[in-house]
Amino acid sequence: MVLANGDASSAPASMLSKETLDYKTALQVFEKEYPLRDGIDVKTLLDSANNGGLTYNDFLILPGYIGFPASAVALDTPVTKRITLKTPLVSSPMDTVTEENMAIHMALLGGLGVIHHNCSPDAQAEMVRKVKRYENGFISDPVVLSPKTTVAEVKQLKERWGFGGFPVTENGTLRSKLVGMVTNRDIQFHNNLDDPVTVVMSTNLVTAPAGTTLSEANTVLRESKKGKLPIVDEQGNLVSLLSRSDLTKNLHFPLASKLPHSKQLLCAAAIGTREEDKARLAKLVDAGLDVAILDSSQGNSIFQIEMIKYIKKTYPDLDVIGGNVVTQEQAAALIAAGVDGLRIGMGSGSACITQEVMAVGRPQAASVHYVSSFAARFGVPCIADGGIQNVGHIVKGLALGASTVMMGGLLAGTTESPGEYFVSSEGKLVKAYRGMGSIDAMEDKKAGAGAANSKASNAGTARYFSEGDRLLVAQGVSGSVLDRGSITKFVPYLLAGLQHSLQDIGEKSLSELRENVRNGKVRFELRTVSAQAEGNVHGLHSFDKKLYS
Ligand code: IMP
Repeated sequence: MVLANGDASSAPASMLSKETLDYKTALQVFEKEYPLRDGIDVKTLLDSANNGGLTYNDFLILPGYIGFPASAVALDTPVTKRITLKTPLVSSPMDTVTEENMAIHMALLGGLGVIHHNCSPDAQAEMVRKVKRYENGFISDPVVLSPKTTVAEVKQLKERWGFGGFPVTENGTLRSKLVGMVTNRDIQFHNNLDDPVTVVMSTNLVTAPAGTTLSEANTVLRESKKGKLPIVDEQGNLVSLLSRSDLTKNLHFPLASKLPHSKQLLCAAAIGTREEDKARLAKLVDAGLDVAILDSSQGNSIFQIEMIKYIKKTYPDLDVIGGNVVTQEQAAALIAAGVDGLRIGMGSGSACITQEVMAVGRPQAASVHYVSSFAARFGVPCIADGGIQNVGHIVKGLALGASTVMMGGLLAGTTESPGEYFVSSEGKLVKAYRGMGSIDAMEDKKAGAGAANSKASNAGTARYFSEGDRLLVAQGVSGSVLDRGSITKFVPYLLAGLQHSLQDIGEKSLSELRENVRNGKVRFELRTVSAQAEGNVHGLHSFDKKLYS
């Protein structure tokens, strides 16, 4: 017998023939005589009675059969019961990780950013609003100027919104007669800042009539060579706006996370479970929030359960992710209360000392397996939150049943995280990264001083302390992480790595991976300490670990 793939020399004599078998048939033929069952299934791997609580570095996934290119591996996956992302990556609601810039870029790259709440409700809502406004088909609520707006005010608006093409209408509102457009070029070298925009704006306008389809409007915009296309009704009143930069963004970010009926990016934000968080949530919803994440280190509380019920009743269209949880019992309580997703992890975060201080928590691989296998019965997707240090950890979190992974430290060193780079004492370029339960972060919350890195000011809601606490007990540390460049390069590297890994495992999509882990087809192996050492670079005098180019 000659196998289409592999070596036939050790095939049993009874099976020898002249025919060439395809991989699947060959496997079946072999399995009749030999049980081809290397490794162990996921339940045996995680069985805490035998192996103790495992985490990502304690095991490996065995390779399968490669029958497709890595680029064919599909990475779409649910983040809540109703929302599916094209990639399984979520950024953590921490004040050194996710503000609007990170949330915008995570969504553009097919993932989701969760805006932190270590700031005032207004500051958080403003960040959500910026994400929702960032990319639009037709911008239905554009910033509109009145003829009295001065050049100085236009410059301030440009600074605030980060874009510079504004329509001018007779009374400065939408649905009023369009009289001009003012762009960056009009104001750039105009020194008389007190002049009204009417002095600089252009009145030679290209517009499209209301009712124009998006693709027709796109054609007009392309041919007009202008930056913005105002859409007007029969009376010449402004009804919406189309932006050229949005067209380019659509071209460059084909994976962008959007709801099917909307052109806006998806945005998530974290809130606490106190009474005042209801007012915060109202502002976030008003700003266009898609997903609320209840941010608690131990999610199984009466406060969270009540909050879930309140949100589901008050905002039936808003998805709620509960957590954090690490046991099936915790998960059951939140699922019963009505969550659309769960966040798994306690004490596994890179800036976290919860397990050391509280003696409470669970190794992350065990948490992800037990919670997500339970939640899967109810169709509730899970986020594996914390402890992700490389592509391999992402793969393992997903193989153990999570639908997405949440990252803090891995993204904190990117250009899109809040704050500035600085040079460490060893001369390395770094950015600050701190646990939200670090003394620094909690003191900022209590004092209302705002986060060290973040632009947001005023106190937020506490995840790690209660209002009456006289003494703050730290559950996190404050430190720094190395520069990782922009996530527009780093995230595509993570995704390409993930596709290559699934190819090695022999699974063509994340849903097939989850299914074949469940049914025992995907096999695992425990890793001894020496196996872990062998699996890392060893025996070299020196080396340079460049991860992608
Ligand atoms: P990382 O990706 O390993 O850095 O972990 C990020 C996760 O750590 C976050 O999403 C939180 O769940 C968790 N976390 C953030 N701050 C703290 C803290 O101060 N103590 C414990 N866990 C934290």
